[in-house]
Amino acid sequence: MNDIPSSSDHSQPRAGWPGAAQPRADLPDINRPDADDSRADDRSLDDRDTDQPPADQVEEARRIVEQSSRILVLTGAGISTESGIPDFRGPNGVWTKDPDAEKYSTIEYYMNDENLRIRGWSRRVDNPTWGAEPNAGHEAVVALERSGKVHLLVTQNVDGLHLSAGSDPERVVEIHGSVRGAMCTSCDWRGEISDVLDRVRAGESDPRCELCGGILKSTTIFFGEHLVEADLQRSYDAAGDCDLILAVGTSLSVYPVAALVPHAVNTGAKLVILNAEETQFDLSADAVLRGSIGEVLPQLLP
Ligand SMILES: [Zn+2]
Repeated sequence: MNDIPSSSDHSQPRAGWPGAAQPRADLPDINRPDADDSRADDRSLDDRDTDQPPADQVEEARRIVEQSSRILVLTGAGISTESGIPDFRGPNGVWTKDPDAEKYSTIEYYMNDENLRIRGWSRRVDNPTWGAEPNAGHEAVVALERSGKVHLLVTQNVDGLHLSAGSDPERVVEIHGSVRGAMCTSCDWRGEISDVLDRVRAGESDPRCELCGGILKSTTIFFGEHLVEADLQRSYDAAGDCDLILAVGTSLSVYPVAALVPHAVNTGAKLVILNAEETQFDLSADAVLRGSIGEVLPQLLP
């Protein structure tokens, strides 16, 4: 099953691939021979600081999307911030402001510390995700799907908003899982997180599996847990088989997801990046756009 490491001619080191969630793995060195590294230098700080990228850049990206027919859309926290969901590692990120918060999503701490689980369930009841609605960025992805150009949508987000917006579940990979599901850590039970949260609201501080008594958790992939092998394989296959990778709202710094980008580029795909901050792959990109995702992404639709 696992032929990821040997199945491609990918010449770059793939830190962390294919395995465990390793968000702090070393970054690979990307040296694409035809990379146009003049583009970033040409752009003034003023351009980067405005909400709207230069019109010629938008037009170039729109033209690339128009000419593509098998797009791998890769999304991260940036597409959901306009829905009121804070990111994790940005300046106002959940983990930046409260380093302890990361422990709630670290499997070793979670399994071994009942008090941490109790606080975690209490926080989960108030998760801003529950009241969040998809925004114009999510809706633009749906519109792109309906144009027939989307090969696969791989999201690092666990908020479920792509599915809420109407993206086809058959074409969505939630590579880091979803906050909307619950699972038992001891048996195969899976259910809705809303049912478990109802039990928390009713007074169970650390609700246990009703089948086996095991510890329950959300279906997000915690630190220290492996990603789902089939999801990884599907994403990697799609990266090797797409003609455009459209990276939206992701810093492209978390592996193994970030490794999809060089894999796609090295197998001939174009690369368009729409993100608030620079990424390590900007110099390899055919177009780099900074600005509001909800405003810019709809302009790229064919
Ligand atoms: Zn169980």
